Amino acid sequence: MYDGIGLISGGLDSLLAIRLMMEQNLNILGLLIDTGFSSLFKGEEKLNAYSKRLSIHKIAEKVGFPLKIVSIHDEYWEMVKYPRYGYGKHLNPCLDCRILMLKTAGRVMREEKASFVFTGEVIGQRPNSQLSHQLKISERESGLEGRLLRPLSAKCLPPTIPEKEGLVDRTRLEGIKGRSRKRQMELANQWGLMDLSVGGGANCFLIDKGYTSRMKDLFHVKGKESITPLDRALLRVGRHFRLSDTLKFIVSRNEEEHETLLKMAAHMPRLECKDVIGAIGVLSGTYIDQDLQRAGEILGRYSKGRDRDSLIVMLKKDEKTLKEFQVRPEKNQAALKALMI
Ligand code: SF4
Repeated sequence: MYDGIGLISGGLDSLLAIRLMMEQNLNILGLLIDTGFSSLFKGEEKLNAYSKRLSIHKIAEKVGFPLKIVSIHDEYWEMVKYPRYGYGKHLNPCLDCRILMLKTAGRVMREEKASFVFTGEVIGQRPNSQLSHQLKISERESGLEGRLLRPLSAKCLPPTIPEKEGLVDRTRLEGIKGRSRKRQMELANQWGLMDLSVGGGANCFLIDKGYTSRMKDLFHVKGKESITPLDRALLRVGRHFRLSDTLKFIVSRNEEEHETLLKMAAHMPRLECKDVIGAIGVLSGTYIDQDLQRAGEILGRYSKGRDRDSLIVMLKKDEKTLKEFQVRPEKNQAALKALMI
């Protein structure tokens, strides 16, 4: 049985919070939530891929806490479409995101019969997500009132139930406030955690300008309700060109993306250049011959035959070649840029 559930973001502060609670010999479970919008899980949706790339299990092992990973892709997507508190600078619904993460942590707390949830949040550290009134909203709306502890800022906040009941010793918690990282660095050095952080919120696709431009395009052209999990997954891969209201053309940028696109879009029509090495391009949506021609010209630009006068491009689907046609590789960078999302 656990005393507390520690929400992990991958960043240093959540590890510090866990380590701080472990100082009090409390039984802690680290909880990592997979939202479907984090580059921590880049390339695959599988959780074991995450552990392989970033060794979160090894980090947990090194710090000395058990780890649970919970996936909430569908629930999170519903929230991203219609965030109650709106978006930030890009398509980042930070307050709604915090609320959903805390609700999930609350669910795990009840399942594990733990007494409280805690996070690495620090009051006033970030202008949008950690203002103290936003901390209050997220606490209230997550249903964790009184049971949500922020060990790094605890002395600046009212005592929580586990502190009042004596399960947690308030005097041994921190009172960090504001944007200085001095105290966090001191603690990280003291506990040897400096090299263990894997980036936290910086891994969120919803604050990435390019990713969110592509997502806004999908919202606009397809409509939020018609977007499929595959549409969402494809947002992470390749260069995206909007060729018409019904067609997007996605071109791989390197070998890894080439393989990823082949796997992800195995049953979608795609273009490949014949007899020259180059990118592949996936056709997402419906098209007419004119669109195919334009897509072929774009693809030609990203092949070794880009300087030729013409190239043969193949339209393929399910490993069958449906047709071949000739194109002039697009050489005008401005024309390409105008189509790129
Ligand atoms: S940056 Fe992303 S992960 Fe962080 S709170 Fe905002 S939406 Fe959530």
